[in-house]
Amino acid sequence: MMKVFNLGLIGWPLEHSYSPALHKAALRSLGFDGDYRLYAVPPLPEGAEELAVLLAKLQGRSIDGLNITIPHKGNLVNLVDHLTPAAASIGAVNTVFMENGLLIGDNTDAGGFWTDLCANFPVQRFERSQALVLGAGGAARAVVYALISHGWSVTVAARSTAQAAGLAEQLSTSDNLIEVLPLGELGLSMDELSSSLIVNATPVGMYPNTRVSPWPKDAPFPAGASVYDLVYNPRRTYFVAQAREAGLAAVTGSGMLVEQAALAFERWTDVEAPREIMWAALTA
Ligand code: NAP
Repeated sequence: MMKVFNLGLIGWPLEHSYSPALHKAALRSLGFDGDYRLYAVPPLPEGAEELAVLLAKLQGRSIDGLNITIPHKGNLVNLVDHLTPAAASIGAVNTVFMENGLLIGDNTDAGGFWTDLCANFPVQRFERSQALVLGAGGAARAVVYALISHGWSVTVAARSTAQAAGLAEQLSTSDNLIEVLPLGELGLSMDELSSSLIVNATPVGMYPNTRVSPWPKDAPFPAGASVYDLVYNPRRTYFVAQAREAGLAAVTGSGMLVEQAALAFERWTDVEAPREIMWAALTA
């Protein structure tokens, strides 16, 4: 009998999501029936009832798996029965499913980032495990969690140092303290000049405002650093172009997008995700 998976994405607004294309292509290529639907749920408190109805459908198995995006990633932390260690530490849920009768909240952004980082930049490439992360929102928390979990030292540069300090307090460990820097002071400190990896976790440079970069115009790049820009639309961001021009290896976040989707797909279906098919669907 053909397996059926009813999947979907909760967020607001949802017009520009690539997720349906990725997941529908994966379902089709494995011969599964089902769908990946978009559920536009307004921010709380307005969307509370709709959110509850969708989670009840998961519990009743009429929905098999959900992705969660802005503005509900944080809300789900309090609405599931159990959080994975990643979701609990990051304080955000992007994937929900049922396991052993419990509603589980997971975060696949961290795993997706780490896997794609390693695929693009072999670990031996890095002289020092020292990263500079730009931004202090939800994606930055996932990135910092991934880096800290793998023993990296991290400096977070954000325009709101209060937000960055909150991130640092949440994710620092007793022997690995996260440093905080105002974004406007980038280029002035020797610390960030010794970073071997720079990650953009702000939306700066994202379509339609593609002619801007989160990196200050006249600031030098750390010599020999690698750049990972989480922005995936456009495929080549201004920041990546700027870094490549300065001789740095740089990639955008398309690989992370595919990998976090693949990890979610595997949670829902228990089947290895067809990553090449998902990649082809993204780039089609
Ligand atoms: P978020 O929670 O809204 O956080 C955005 C962060 O960027 C905040 O710290 C925000 O600071 C900062 N920021 C926003 N505009 C800025 C500006 N003009 N200059 C400097 N800082 C600015 O968003 P998010 O969920 O973390 O997402 C961030 C980006 O990552 C988005 O482009 C998203 O598409 C991308 N992303 C990619 C993937 C992937 O798979 N590749 C996964 C997740 C997210 P303020 O609080 O001061 O506004």
